[in-house]
Amino acid sequence: MISLTEAMTTRGHEQVVYATDAAAGLRAIIAVHSTALGPSLGGIRFWRYEREDDAVLDALRLSEAMTLKAAAAGLHQGGGKAVVLVDDPDAQRSPAFLHALGRAIHEFGGRYLAAEDVGATQRDMDLIAEVTPWVTGVDPARGGSGDPSPVTAVGVVAAMRSVLGFLDDEPTLAGRRVAVQGAGHVGAHLVERLVGAGASVVVADVNEAKARAVAAANGADVVGADTILGEECDVLAPCALGAVVDATTVEQLRCRTLCGAANNQLVDDTVEDLLVARGIVYVPDFVANAGGIINIAEEFTGYSRERALARTEAIEDTVTQVLELAREHGMPPGRAAVEMACARVESEGAGRRWEPGDPAAWTDGAPLRSVRPAG
Ligand code: NAD
Repeated sequence: MISLTEAMTTRGHEQVVYATDAAAGLRAIIAVHSTALGPSLGGIRFWRYEREDDAVLDALRLSEAMTLKAAAAGLHQGGGKAVVLVDDPDAQRSPAFLHALGRAIHEFGGRYLAAEDVGATQRDMDLIAEVTPWVTGVDPARGGSGDPSPVTAVGVVAAMRSVLGFLDDEPTLAGRRVAVQGAGHVGAHLVERLVGAGASVVVADVNEAKARAVAAANGADVVGADTILGEECDVLAPCALGAVVDATTVEQLRCRTLCGAANNQLVDDTVEDLLVARGIVYVPDFVANAGGIINIAEEFTGYSRERALARTEAIEDTVTQVLELAREHGMPPGRAAVEMACARVESEGAGRRWEPGDPAAWTDGAPLRSVRPAG
């Protein structure tokens, strides 16, 4: 097993901070992977970890993934992540605890911009925003962007149009059969948009009542959560948890393309080769689900839902670039997307490191600011 310092240096992280506050009971790891393209942006994960090393490795891995996601989405942002060790991620956190976390985030001076991730709620973001402006996803009444899932769904539909156009020159959802796994925040918005675009949709959720409600509201079909992966369809959209496609489940798939919102859909990189062998085109999840990060990045120029949606629609072009690069070089799309993102960091961000007070590219030379003053 490699050491933590080895893991940090081999993945190229700029900064990893272990933030503690004994009085508040805070133990958090904040990792800034890269600020080559701009201040790092990434969610706060509240999770119960067996070992502190696991939390550090998670922060390293997730912050690196955010660098790729932001770069592929064309954002002037880097990758960062905060991992907070808690006993119960679902328990409501005290203001003192969240203020201590907010102060730790504030010390980065804008090099790390926080957002929601697993376990986090808008209430957490609102309380953190009381002590630092460097947090996104706060209440829209306070200048925040609110729930990102409707925008994420718009991006997933754009990604679907692209891959369908790539497969048969018809970039349209009309008349397509789409299977959606998960009727949660993104899944529900996605079903509505797909039906609106003329697709025939089948949806499943482990919480069957949720699937039934979403289907009834939109005129979609429902199947059991144990059979959705094997539904015959044009597009299978995983919108539940990660790691749904592995060496076993890949054999069950009866779709032409895999294109959904869930993070880390493939259990590992080798699964993509199995998808290629079965003739199923995988749209890399971090490209298809970038609407969420595009939406929160907008908060730093004064949030505009119209602009966030317009930038999210551009995911269609990004997916097309990825698929064409993959075809040109005979590589799977997942690998092509990583190469494309790394190439942008290396060309546009070569040797750069963003520091507080530096201009941020998208502010036309003005220093980075938050639209929401702290307090
Ligand atoms: P959510 O928790 O609101 O919804 C997930 C749904 O999946 C729940 O209804 C849950 O019951 C269901 N589910 C869990 N396991 C299932 C299974 N095996 N089969 C069928 N249903 C199952 O989450 P969300 O915000 O809708 O996000 C969905 C996925 O998209 C997550 O992986 C998330 O990380 C990713 N994502 C979300 C956003 C966003 O804007 N919310 C942005 C980027 C990525």
